[in-house]
Amino acid sequence: MSVDYLIVGQGIAGTLLHFSLKKAGQKVVVIDNHHKGAATKVAAGGINPITGKRYVKSWKIETLMPVVRTVYAELEALLDTQFFKERNIIRILKNAGEENTWLGRSADPFYLKYFVEHPLIGDFEKHLNSFPSIGEIKNGGQVDIALLVEKYKELLFSNQEILNEKLDYSQLDYSKKGAVSYKGIESKAVIFCEGAGAAKNPFFNYLPFELSKGEALTVKIKDSNLDKIIRHRVSVVPTQKDEYWIGASNSWEFENDDPTQEAKENLEEHLSSIFKNKPEITNHQSAIRPTVKDRRPLLGVHPNHSNLFIFNGLGTKGASLAPYLSQQMADFILNDADLLSEVDIQRYSGKV
Ligand SMILES: Cc1cc2nc3c(=O)[nH]c(=O)nc-3n(C[C@H](O)[C@H](O)[C@H](O)COP(=O)(O)OP(=O)(O)OC[C@H]3O[C@@H](n4cnc5c(N)ncnc54)[C@H](O)[C@@H]3O)c2cc1C
Repeated sequence: MSVDYLIVGQGIAGTLLHFSLKKAGQKVVVIDNHHKGAATKVAAGGINPITGKRYVKSWKIETLMPVVRTVYAELEALLDTQFFKERNIIRILKNAGEENTWLGRSADPFYLKYFVEHPLIGDFEKHLNSFPSIGEIKNGGQVDIALLVEKYKELLFSNQEILNEKLDYSQLDYSKKGAVSYKGIESKAVIFCEGAGAAKNPFFNYLPFELSKGEALTVKIKDSNLDKIIRHRVSVVPTQKDEYWIGASNSWEFENDDPTQEAKENLEEHLSSIFKNKPEITNHQSAIRPTVKDRRPLLGVHPNHSNLFIFNGLGTKGASLAPYLSQQMADFILNDADLLSEVDIQRYSGKV
């Protein structure tokens, strides 16, 4: 079989890169082993434009959001399924200090488009502990990236554009410039989109990944109707009727990607700081995030092998970063366009 490109990994990174390359007329095959603990399968897909204790704009959010809306709308049309929802984010302000910081930021003219003048939580308030006050952010959203990747996988299978296996690195022949062959598949190059799996990639394991394990719960709350995300220590994200995703924990030291009792208890503690009554827990999941030491993605070409590329390091923000960066990556591969210096792996070329 002869194709233009081979992508390894079909999380949100590999999926959106495949979509970008296909739109540019390329023939692309994906290899993926459908790891149950892939980050994309566990994530809530929340997009929060204003974050942290000082309520600052998330990195490049104004560049990312228009592309988020366009790309997910294109995929919704292609796959005939809704993935993206505009969602406001309720921030609980638990003391006068937080309220003051909030008020200061909301008066900043560069932030006006994000702050709701009269925050509203509606009937859902009856489920919550009482708090001194709340704030509300607009222009955020939520993408069901797990469903998107699943639906896209079905399309890849029906187009015979995916191999269901773990890549065997030893079978990859990349010795010829501009050509790579793998088990009878000839292509111009390979793009590795392996998420946390990249730590075991012999070509790119010099990059400073700082993987973090995240765990999340699913809970049921009867007679509840919330269409916003609540953020207080953890996020409460609506998924289906009366169902919410609660997460996530963050751990830098872990033995494997399985759910742990410790993280569950921690999340339960957060639940009781938010809700009057403990919600019924129906699921507990975990995965490893592909986080990088400098908290910036990893895009580019291997310093010594011009036919090996990487698109990774989406960390905690795959849902918002992947649409814009997959277009950048495709443009870099096809047209040699410049990458943003903050994401280009050239910044680590001294470490190869
Ligand atoms: C608990 C949790 C909550 C999160 N919440 C959010 C959120 O609310 N919003 C947000 O934007 N982000 C969130 N994230 C982060 C988000 O999940 C990641 O940024 C994103 O999913 C990373 O996507 P990826 O495609 O790079 O990696 P992955 O999703 O891990 O996909 C990698 C794929 O590559 C495959 N693979 C790896 N190695 C090989 C190999 N050698 N051969 C074949 N296949 C291989 C794997 O099976 C997998 O399918 C969260 C993450 C976690 C863990």
